[in-house]
Amino acid sequence: MAEKKTYTGGCHCGEVRFEVTADLSSVVSCNCSICQKRGALWVFVTPESFALRAGLDDVKDYQFGKKFIHHLFCPQCGVGAFSRGNAPNGGEMVAINVRCLDDVDVAGLKLVPFDGRSL
Ligand SMILES: [Zn+2]
Repeated sequence: MAEKKTYTGGCHCGEVRFEVTADLSSVVSCNCSICQKRGALWVFVTPESFALRAGLDDVKDYQFGKKFIHHLFCPQCGVGAFSRGNAPNGGEMVAINVRCLDDVDVAGLKLVPFDGRSL
């Protein structure tokens, strides 16, 4: 069932930390070229549901292809805990890498495949 909860999360070394309110009842597993290599699992939230607590000045940006999405990552440990971009309706969105949330057991989540490779 859809249930929003507040989670904390961040990169591996702790340089990047955030708080996010999200519903993890379905989590997106994307097959695009970068998600495949990174193994990231995503949940999407509006900017109001996301607060970066540490690392604002540090995160590096990686873009490729049509450059719709800012694949942000920590320059120290290399982990990409969240990305920024625009939703299909044009609104800003933040993609949270569910694997980077504290105390979330990914094995218990329902994964929804997304065919990002075909975009
Ligand atoms: Zn880090």
